[in-house]
Amino acid sequence: MTESAGTIVAPRFPAETDRDYAMLIDGEWVGPSGRETFSCVDPYDNQSWGRIPVATADDVDRAVRAARRAFDEGGWPQTPAVVRAGMLRRLADLVEQHADELARTQIHENGKLIGEMTATAHALAAHARFVAGLAETIGGSSMQCLPGYTSYTVREPIGVVAAITPWNSPLTLLSWKLLPALAAGCTVVIKPSEVTPTSTLRLAELCVEAGFPAGVVNVVTGFGQPTGAALAGHPDVDKIAFTGSTAAGKAMLDAARPRVGRVTLELGGKSPNIVFGDADLDNAVHGVMGGIFAATGQSCMAGSRVLVEDSVYDEFVERLSAAASELVLGDPLDPTVDVGPVACRNQFERVLRYIDLGREEGAKIAAGGEREVATPETERGLFVRPTVFADVDNSSRLAQEEIFGPVAGVIRFSGEDEATRLANDVDFGLAAAVWTKDIGRAHRMVKRLRAGTVWVNTYRVAHYAMPFGGFKQSGLGRELGIDALDAYTEVKSVWIDEGNRQTFGRH
Ligand code: NAD
Repeated sequence: MTESAGTIVAPRFPAETDRDYAMLIDGEWVGPSGRETFSCVDPYDNQSWGRIPVATADDVDRAVRAARRAFDEGGWPQTPAVVRAGMLRRLADLVEQHADELARTQIHENGKLIGEMTATAHALAAHARFVAGLAETIGGSSMQCLPGYTSYTVREPIGVVAAITPWNSPLTLLSWKLLPALAAGCTVVIKPSEVTPTSTLRLAELCVEAGFPAGVVNVVTGFGQPTGAALAGHPDVDKIAFTGSTAAGKAMLDAARPRVGRVTLELGGKSPNIVFGDADLDNAVHGVMGGIFAATGQSCMAGSRVLVEDSVYDEFVERLSAAASELVLGDPLDPTVDVGPVACRNQFERVLRYIDLGREEGAKIAAGGEREVATPETERGLFVRPTVFADVDNSSRLAQEEIFGPVAGVIRFSGEDEATRLANDVDFGLAAAVWTKDIGRAHRMVKRLRAGTVWVNTYRVAHYAMPFGGFKQSGLGRELGIDALDAYTEVKSVWIDEGNRQTFGRH
């Protein structure tokens, strides 16, 4: 805390963020063997900070071998579940104590709003406690299959997990993998996004403080190539838990194929947010805005295709565009700001390219459509005006490809059949929402939509007790939920003979 004009104000970012960072390998904080580093850039003011190691294939190998040793020889899988659960609860306490610092560190990296980040840090702690409870319930089933035999199943940890994460929600999406992996008795090598490595390193420090033994949690930093690819392709990795783009997700499947490695994938989306003529339009306008403009649209579940029924189409487009035009862009640390910057320059340029493409494809700009330069702050940072395209054709690239930015494409439909056809006519299937007052229609649409999550009269609600994942090219497997540990365990079937005489052929 610092003194300013007689009042105590929190520092903009945790002290000492601008420093040399180290990676966590086998309980030691180490530099890269190749001595190469890269910097983080704050998307709010475009300032570079911190020097982050680029892990070479050798560094990755050291980390995986440490995780292997901790699993095979270190006794971690044999550690009683109650002990692992105790460490997870200790981690939850530490995350809560450092919630503000974790939130600010991630904001420094990717510009997410303070309100959402504070909630995220506390949700991570609650999730750790939930998973600690699950760890204490890991068990199998007793099966009475055949007379003269006792048969049962046990669940055992999969082994060494590679957790590879993206930049949009680095702490949350890491926790979805790390917490159940630790609860199950796996060891983990984490490769955070090159855009957001430091929040992950800070969480790893808290893991050490919580008591997880050396080699159980390791972090290597760097880019997809060479660091991520070396990790995904390492023969000693038993499972890849990946969140990121569909293209990189497919590379994970290729990397795991030679060893038949386990893979869970949380990938991209192009989710339909469907407004029927009978919806509460006020509510729907706000829900649609939250669906696409929250987190500056950099959310896998973003409701980027807004399907609106004929009867309310013109009114809805007008109201949505007017409301979008009023959104305030600015400092993500200011709780009155509605929309923060885009997280990194590549993504910023990609979003602006898609806006150009939408124009070229003939869609009509109803709001936004340009870089925001309204104030000195927004001029400096990576700000894009929340954009609404009307009259979008569902077969256009604007409607089919994930933009991952504050860009809504509005598509007209008539009736449930057409809404369903358009909603499902895309390679993705992560989420969908329906806005209607007709309960029958809500149930019919829930059944017809091909998506891993369907919301009715709401959007973007998630909780650690509800499974999350995608249909089609949005992913493979599920994270969260009461079965979350299944993705980190193998089932072993055990048969015990109760005294039958063994026979074979005539013997
Ligand atoms: P990305 O695929 O570019 O990168 C994700 C991670 O994979 C990063 O750590 C990156 O360094 C690494 N990586 C990239 N190529 C690799 C390779 N060939 N081998 C190994 N590692 C590699 O994704 P991103 O741009 O960081 O994140 C945005 C994407 O993530 C969007 O497509 C978004 O939809 C998706 N996402 C999905 C979910 C979900 O739960 N479904 C959640 C958040 C984000």
